[in-house]
Amino acid sequence: MDTRISGKTRLLGVIGKPVGHSGSPVMYNFCFDYYGLDGVYLAFECDESQVKDTIAAIRRLNMRGANVTMPCKREAARNMDRLSPAAKFIGAVNTIVNDNGVLTGHITDGMGVVLDLADHGHSIKDKDIVLLGAGGAAMAIMVQCALDGAKSVTVFNRGREALEKARSVGENMKADGVACRMEFFPVAENALMHDRIRTADILINATSAGMRPMAEGVSLITDMTAFHEDLVVYDVIYNPPVTKLMQDALDNGCRPENVIGGKGMLLWQGAGAFKLYSGLDMPAQELKAFLARREKEGTEPLMDIAENVPY
Ligand code: NDP
Repeated sequence: MDTRISGKTRLLGVIGKPVGHSGSPVMYNFCFDYYGLDGVYLAFECDESQVKDTIAAIRRLNMRGANVTMPCKREAARNMDRLSPAAKFIGAVNTIVNDNGVLTGHITDGMGVVLDLADHGHSIKDKDIVLLGAGGAAMAIMVQCALDGAKSVTVFNRGREALEKARSVGENMKADGVACRMEFFPVAENALMHDRIRTADILINATSAGMRPMAEGVSLITDMTAFHEDLVVYDVIYNPPVTKLMQDALDNGCRPENVIGGKGMLLWQGAGAFKLYSGLDMPAQELKAFLARREKEGTEPLMDIAENVPY
């Protein structure tokens, strides 16, 4: 990399706290090297109270852009010149692009799931989707699926508060002309939830149920007859790599190639951001091979960054 840094090299970075363990610098610098792009990507610690100044620095230093992680995503959205449709509906930003001094905030977390599904051969277009959860990750997924042409997204969440917030995002989208049918129910409507899965094309778990160590072995799906051969099951959880939900799906008729864990979500949300910065496709297969080599050599796995994703 040092051979290509020049007086014209553009700076990019990730802002948030903590960022010391972020995998983003490795991921983006690999991509700059791959294409020979004149950019360099670093991590900058920034808490919520420093977001305004940090964004002023992005302008002042003419940085090409930045990724934003917790706890800065919402405050960053309040300091943009423009917001992408998804960022506007969610009120949070994970990618800032600087075009000649105009800062546009995007959110690519939902793209992470949509692109990962596509990488596994599944389009969300015209599909009926059941989405478990109404937290930060779930909202990003709901909005992206709706914007990208899903036929319906039915959201089930344990708590009422987040569910009502999700409903209001859905209503805003509807008022804005988004055609996708969005419905919202508590998980307590258990029979309805299982019925919806029976007729769904894709089931996405975006809750922490199943996550190691707090909720390992937990799944919201309790009636195994809801799984079916044509169902695609995506779990945003990446630790453990096979969650209880995924194992249950595998044991009850879902095809192995249609049961997908959350490991790819980080990579593909990065691919979304890289495209916004550079206009180029992330060299995903080469990056995957590079990361696999690093893991084999015992370097800290890149997935650690995903702990930074919550809002
Ligand atoms: P939030 O705290 O914003 O939301 C958590 C969601 O999970 C809420 O809907 C919450 O429901 C629900 N939930 C938590 N525990 C349970 C439980 N035991 N039973 C039922 N519902 C539960 O977190 P995020 O949305 O940011 O993250 C959610 C999950 O997604 C995490 O496991 C995280 O690691 C993973 N993730 C993975 C990424 C990846 O790259 N693969 C990226 C981002 C997140 P309620 O409202 O009732 O509390």
